[in-house]
Amino acid sequence: MEEVGTGLLDRLDALQRVAASAPGGPMLIVAGPGTGKTRTLTHRIAYLCAEMHVLPEECLAITFTRRAADELRQRLDGLLGDSAEDVTVATFHSLGLAILREHAEQAGLSPTFRIAEEAERIAALVVAGAADETAARRMLREGVDEELRERYVKGLREGDLVDLDDLVTLPVSLLREDTELTDRYRARWSWVFVDEYQDVDPVQYELLRLLAPPDGNLCAIGDPDQAIYSFRGADVSFFLRFGQDFVDARTVRLTRNYRSSAPIVAAAVQAIAPTSLVPGRRLDPARLDPEAVPIGLYTAASAADEADFVVRTIDELVGGLSHRSLDSGRIDAHAAAGSMSFADIAVLYRTDAQAGVIVDALSRAGIPAQKRSHDRLRDRPGVAAIARELRYATGLAGSLAARVRLTGQLLAERPTLDADGGLAPQDVHTAIELLTPLAVRCGDDLEKFLAEIATGAEVDALDPRAQAVTLLTLHAAKGLEFPVVFLVGCEDGLLPLRFPGGSTAREDSNVDEERRLFFVGLTRAQDRLYISHARRRTRYGAERDMVASPFLAAIDPGLLERRGDEAPRRPRDRQLRLI
Ligand code: ATP
Ligand code: MG
Repeated sequence: MEEVGTGLLDRLDALQRVAASAPGGPMLIVAGPGTGKTRTLTHRIAYLCAEMHVLPEECLAITFTRRAADELRQRLDGLLGDSAEDVTVATFHSLGLAILREHAEQAGLSPTFRIAEEAERIAALVVAGAADETAARRMLREGVDEELRERYVKGLREGDLVDLDDLVTLPVSLLREDTELTDRYRARWSWVFVDEYQDVDPVQYELLRLLAPPDGNLCAIGDPDQAIYSFRGADVSFFLRFGQDFVDARTVRLTRNYRSSAPIVAAAVQAIAPTSLVPGRRLDPARLDPEAVPIGLYTAASAADEADFVVRTIDELVGGLSHRSLDSGRIDAHAAAGSMSFADIAVLYRTDAQAGVIVDALSRAGIPAQKRSHDRLRDRPGVAAIARELRYATGLAGSLAARVRLTGQLLAERPTLDADGGLAPQDVHTAIELLTPLAVRCGDDLEKFLAEIATGAEVDALDPRAQAVTLLTLHAAKGLEFPVVFLVGCEDGLLPLRFPGGSTAREDSNVDEERRLFFVGLTRAQDRLYISHARRRTRYGAERDMVASPFLAAIDPGLLERRGDEAPRRPRDRQLRLI
């Protein structure tokens, strides 16, 4: 546990300290990438509790993903110790679920309601009139048809079910109708904190407005220039009009970037400048290391050549033979020489389809890699089946983790399994592995465990201890940082992404959002950044000529260093190099 008391704000800079120690009332923290948003948010909560007599149970911190919530919780534990447990840290979904559990009947639900699984939602859609399962499945991804919606909801309710949208819309209706109840919640959580406020959608926004009165202690933090979820209904204009929505709102800006080297910060600022949503945006590098290296730029002949560039560069960074050596002493020697380790390196791309060629190249070169995704646990085969069995299994003894394993094993042994929904025993075993850490975290609380799955706990595919290169999409990279980042596929049509035929009406705003995505990508890098693009690439089944992303033109060429094309290829006899 970190020291509480006088030293609490010592680890913050002057602006962060202003934000963390500001008095109550509405406050918007506008903060660029790498400026310490999470750090400031957690220190503010800790400071209020430790120094300003705010009770932890009066604090509600809302994030967008379970992973972000877990991280916030961990950091609060570090600052506040045991009393951090009393702070409510929730995602919008888990918050909505908690409110509905407390007032099920009033919300028109039975006390035993639960969250529908995907198969149940599909069934309800088909009953409501969707042409077939495929159409229903598509609707779940594109939004449920207005016409069907009413019958679909009715069907769900008959089965004592709610869907994820209901988790936010039902509490909104409930609180809108019952102002007394709204007041009770406002009194209970008199301090509300929201991270990544630029990504709220209209319903989440409404819930927040109900929970926090216009002059309430709402602290919203975010960066409009990192708003990248409009395709999911998020609307950055809520962030931009915070000052109108909340009375005498204080705005604090954090402008010192602690994450990236000076050239990386400079390039990022130039990249976002043409369409920045933050008037007078500033981002100043706190790191002014004289040995900072320029940003590498590589023009590849093809996607395969680009992948080869990534492999070659990783080889150089990690130090040739070390990763293939079984002699651990040698690896240590390289580390002492200051070379990078695989875990320091991330490869970012716009679309998942780009990953394949890179994964193959890394694997051929013997470089360990792991893909990280936004995958939800509940979407993995076998997870819903185990959850359902667990819900109805009675008389099982042991810890929740043990019960998960047992239920899964029984399920895997059932002969009808393959015929029934195409589930293979191996899927079930993988599901057991995925569920076990969550079961351990939930202690013996089955309801909590099931709710975590239903409200979107992510697959923790990434093991932070693994010595592997991380591959991930730009969306999944949000909020993360790595010493070395490769931003691949920086080509017109891929970043910005355009579909064949092009989208028309929303094109301009789409391109702005793509630029923000590029900005998010650049700002994940701490020490070294490599940008690459290919002259030819297979897209939609055909080889196409590609040109560099127009976003690159905004970056001062003086910050970039051409890599590769002209350099002679080193002979790469992998067999010989294997020890
Ligand atoms: P993003 O917008 O990308 O999510 P962020 O604003 O949330 O960025 P953080 O991830 O909280 O930024 O911080 C970026 C890095 O800077 C972290 O490694 C963090 O530890 C470090 N950092 C933040 N504030 C300070 C500080 N005052 N002194 C030293 N390091 C800091
Ligand atoms: Mg962050």
